[in-house]
Amino acid sequence: MKRHHVSKPDSSDPQLFAWMCEIRRFLHQNPELSFCEFETAKYIQEKLNELGISFRSGLGGTGILAEIGPADALLTVGLRADMDALPITEDTDLPFASAKPGCMHACGHDGHIAMLLGAARILLQKDLSCRVRLLFQPGEEQGNGALKMIEAGAIDDLAAIFGGHIDTHFATGAITVDEGIICASADPFEIRLHGKSGHAARPHETKDAIVAAAGLITSLQSLVAREVNPNQSAVLTVGRIRAGETHNVIADEAIIEGTVRSTHPEARQYMLEGLRRMVQGNASLYGITADLDLRECLPAVINRKVATTVARDAAETIIPAKNVISQGPSSLGGEDFAFYLQKIEGCLVRFGARLTDETGPAHSSTFDFDEKVLTVGAAWYAQVVLQFCTHRKKSKYLSGD
Ligand SMILES: [Zn+2]
Ligand SMILES: [Zn+2]
Repeated sequence: MKRHHVSKPDSSDPQLFAWMCEIRRFLHQNPELSFCEFETAKYIQEKLNELGISFRSGLGGTGILAEIGPADALLTVGLRADMDALPITEDTDLPFASAKPGCMHACGHDGHIAMLLGAARILLQKDLSCRVRLLFQPGEEQGNGALKMIEAGAIDDLAAIFGGHIDTHFATGAITVDEGIICASADPFEIRLHGKSGHAARPHETKDAIVAAAGLITSLQSLVAREVNPNQSAVLTVGRIRAGETHNVIADEAIIEGTVRSTHPEARQYMLEGLRRMVQGNASLYGITADLDLRECLPAVINRKVATTVARDAAETIIPAKNVISQGPSSLGGEDFAFYLQKIEGCLVRFGARLTDETGPAHSSTFDFDEKVLTVGAAWYAQVVLQFCTHRKKSKYLSGD
């Protein structure tokens, strides 16, 4: 049995904390995969109704836009939470563990929803000079939920957008704020190798797709090791392979799925060109045919200068300055928040939420986070709005805009 940790309410507003925990735990127990967040969306709408906040639903599928603050305000600031879970079977003994095999909130998006609703509650008590738009976004894990929200007009007329991600690499109470690149570009790919099936004992009558796939996967690892400048970060991971039906039939097809990540455009180009070359080279090497499907790329998350200053000031207002830290080198993780930042001013931060050593990392079946982060996240989301609106006219936020 793994130990679990249930945080005790200790925030300055225990009621708010308890309310956010309840939301997080309900969502955790009832996770939904990307673009299937139907019950999640319904639950969020119930909470918005309870708070008397008007909203629009059905954006990009299951996305929701809610707005608070004066309707005639000159400025609207966006806050984003993602809604989806991952296709993982949970392996914790949490009392609120996922009720659905093969589906788990293993990235903390349950917490993001709870803290954004918490921020809404805080902001409802404030005398706002600007309008606040809450974006509940589907399909982050698929890499294009943000794009669908943008296509649905979710960031039209926004002056800036802010987001945060729970991160158990950092202690609870810390917020990382960094200008510039913080998450890598991500290019998912699928390779289909087509051979010819036949009897396991008669390879001369076949083209074995499994042996070709094994050779290709091994070759691909040399892209990072031998072709990319070692000073530039890059990674290629094959996360899924499907081939064959039984032990004594040579497989006629192998499907390889993976992702290419990089924090440097040049490295990314090398990787993608090398990937294309190796797929074709492997096909002629093994006498098979191959199709490469390089799906829509996720750009790097590049935090804008002005918004980063606002994000840092907001963090330093709600937590001690020594807890406002840098995440260090850019993560090789992808985040579709990148699409918003290609269009408008904005910043994505990380909320420290480290729990125990037994807790697994994000995207693992034993992932969990310290719920005290909900208080920090809600406070930061609310503060960043106040900070942006109050100081929008101050020169320090406009220089370098
Ligand atoms: Zn994730
Ligand atoms: Zn995530």
